[in-house]
Amino acid sequence: MRLIISEKDIAARRIAYILSEGKVKSSKLGKIPVYEFLKDNETWKVIGLRGHIINVDFPASFNQWNKISPIELIEINPCKKVSEKNIADALKTLAMQNPFLIVATDYDREGELIGVEIVNLIKEYNKNINQIKRAKFSAITTQEINEAFNKLVDIDYNLSNAGESRQVIDLIWGAVLTRFISLTTHRLGKDFLSIGRVQSPTLALLVNKEKEIKNFTPVPFWKIIATLKKEITFNAIHKKNQIWDEKEANDIYKKVEFCKEAKINKIDKKILKEMPPTPFNTTSFLESASYLGFSAVNAMSIAEQLYIYGLTSYPRTDNTVYPPSLNLKGILQKLSNSEFSKEAKEVLSNGRPYPTRGKKQTTDHPPIHPVGVPNKINLNPNQQKIHELICRRFLATLAKDAISETMDVTFDISNEEFKASGYKLIQSNWKAIYPYFKEKRKSLPELVEGEIVEIVEINLNKDHTKPPQRYTQGSLIGKMEDLLLGTKSTRHEIIQKLFQRKYITFSPLAPTPTGIAVVEAMGDCDVVKPKMTATLEMDMDLISEGKKTLDDTVKESRQMLTNVMKTLQKDSEKIRTSINNAHREQNTVGKCPRCGKPLLIRTSKKKKRFVGCSGFPDCKNTYSLPQKGGIILTENVCSECNTPIVKIKPKGGRTWELCLNSNCTVKKPRKN
Ligand SMILES: [Zn+2]
Ligand SMILES: [Zn+2]
Repeated sequence: MRLIISEKDIAARRIAYILSEGKVKSSKLGKIPVYEFLKDNETWKVIGLRGHIINVDFPASFNQWNKISPIELIEINPCKKVSEKNIADALKTLAMQNPFLIVATDYDREGELIGVEIVNLIKEYNKNINQIKRAKFSAITTQEINEAFNKLVDIDYNLSNAGESRQVIDLIWGAVLTRFISLTTHRLGKDFLSIGRVQSPTLALLVNKEKEIKNFTPVPFWKIIATLKKEITFNAIHKKNQIWDEKEANDIYKKVEFCKEAKINKIDKKILKEMPPTPFNTTSFLESASYLGFSAVNAMSIAEQLYIYGLTSYPRTDNTVYPPSLNLKGILQKLSNSEFSKEAKEVLSNGRPYPTRGKKQTTDHPPIHPVGVPNKINLNPNQQKIHELICRRFLATLAKDAISETMDVTFDISNEEFKASGYKLIQSNWKAIYPYFKEKRKSLPELVEGEIVEIVEINLNKDHTKPPQRYTQGSLIGKMEDLLLGTKSTRHEIIQKLFQRKYITFSPLAPTPTGIAVVEAMGDCDVVKPKMTATLEMDMDLISEGKKTLDDTVKESRQMLTNVMKTLQKDSEKIRTSINNAHREQNTVGKCPRCGKPLLIRTSKKKKRFVGCSGFPDCKNTYSLPQKGGIILTENVCSECNTPIVKIKPKGGRTWELCLNSNCTVKKPRKN
C-alpha cells in the first residue's frame, strides 16, 4: 500500500482525484477522511493533516508563570506532543498496514518539517517502515502532480531542521520575553503583553515612523502657478518650483501677476519605453493586493485557496524569475480559454521575446502564476479579484513595453521662466493588461516653439513640506523583507499578531500608546533592532543548505537571549511604569462626570467589557458597553449630559457614536 500524506484535507482530496483520474473512493478512519484508489495494481491511500499535528511546548511543569522565572526557561528543552489526536489515531491504523510512505506536504521549510514530524510519528507506531519518499510540486495541477509522483525524491532533513530551529527559537524567545514583560507589568491572563523575536523589531519600525511624523516640523514654501489655455487648460510652474523665501516669491509674483500671455521658448519631447512589472513573489504580491484594499493575512489566505483549487501556483515564494522549465506558452494557451482570452491571445501573438525578471532568483518554487482556469469552480468576489490580479500580472510580464511620450515645455512670462510637463501614452501594451497603476501625469495640448499661449490666471500658493507617510501593510511587508525580518510565510501573520495584541491600529497602520511604550521600554535592547533577528534568519538559511547545525544555532540564540534578559531585568522598574501608564492612557475614555477621575475600559469577572471609574471604590460610577465591535476613543463629551462619548466600529459595519449614559436624552446612536 502507498500512503500519501498531504498538508490539508482539501489538498489530499485533489491529489487523490488527480492521481486516480477521478476514480477515487472516500471513507473515514475515525473522524478523518481517507481517499483510496487502485493504481498499477496497488492500493493508494491519501490522508490530509491540519498543518502541524505535533505541538512544541515546554513540559507542563514549566507552565506556571509565577513559579518559574523567565530566565530559567531559556535552557529548558521543549518537548513534542500530538495536538490532533484523531489524525494521529488514523495514522497509527494506516502505519500498521506497512505502507510505502510519500510525503506530499507543501514544499518549503514548514512543509518539510510537518512531513518529518509525521515520518517520526509513523516510525514510532511501526518500526518496520523503511520506504519513505517525498513528492515535490509547486502547483496542484494534473501535470505537476503526475510528474512529482513519477519522480519522487528523498526527504530533505536540512530543510526540516531549518524549520525546526525557527520553531524552537521562536518558542523560547516568545515564552521568555512574553512572560518577563507580562510579569513585570502584572498583566497576566487574557490581557498579557507579548514580545517576540520578529514581532518587536517590526513594531519598532512603526513606532519610529510615528516618532518621525510627530517630530516633523513643516517648513513653508511658495509656488507660483500659471494656468494656461490652449483648447484645454493646463498648469505651468515657475522654474524655481518650491520657493523658500517669502519675499523672493512675492517679488517674482508682482512681476508676473497681471500678465496675459506666455511665450513658448523651448519644447523637449522624449519617447519612453516603460517595462512591465516583474513576476510576483510573495512580497510583491502582498504589496499589490494591499493596494487593492486586501489585508496581508486575507490576501495570503485567498492565494492559498486558489493554490488548492489548482488555479494558481504555490503562493509562498521569494523567486521573481520564471524557471526555464515553466511552460509559459502552455499557460497562455490555457488562459486563451478564459475571461482573459483577449489579453492572452494578444500576448501569444505579439508579446515580448523574454518575460521580465526580478532581482531575486531561487529554485524552490516559481514566481506566483496562474496554472488553471476556473471552469467548474465558483469563485467568490474576493477570490475573483485576487485570481484576476495574479492572471493579469502574469500576462503583463509577457507583454510588450508600453510606449509613451513626455514633453517638457519652457514658457517665458515677463522674463520669468515657467515650466510644464506632459505625458502621453502612445502604445499601452502591458498597461492595458495590467490596469492597476494609476497614471497621475496629464497630457498637454499640441504646442510649437515661439507660440503665444493665453494666461487664464497666475496664483501665488503657500504650502508646506509634508511629514513622512505612514506604512501601508504592503509597504511594511516590503520593508520587513529588506531588513530580513521574518519570512515570506510569516510576515503577514506577524502584522496580524501586533493587531491582536492591540499594539497597532489597522487604519491607519499606527502604534497604540501601549505599542509605543513596549518599544520605548525596551530602549536600546537588541530585541527591538532588526539586526539580531536577521542574523538568525541567515543562520536558518545556512541550516537548510547543510552549512550549520540545528543544535549550534539554537545554542547561539539561547546565548543572545540570555544577554537580552540581563539588560531587561536591570530596567524592569522603568519598564513597569512606562507600560502601565500607557496602558491606562489607551483605556481611558474620559473624565468621570461624578468625581472627575479617569473612566477606564475594564473587563468584568464574566468577561464582559464595561466602563468603570478609576476612583473605585470611592466612586462606583459604571457604564455598559456594546460587547461587539471595536471601540474608538474620542475626546468628546455629550452636549446634553456631559458624559464621555466613544465611537463603536462594528466588524464590516459603519462607525457610530455612543453617549455612555444610557439614560441620556440623546439616546439614538448617531450615525456618521
Ligand atoms: Zn467617578
Ligand atoms: Zn448624553
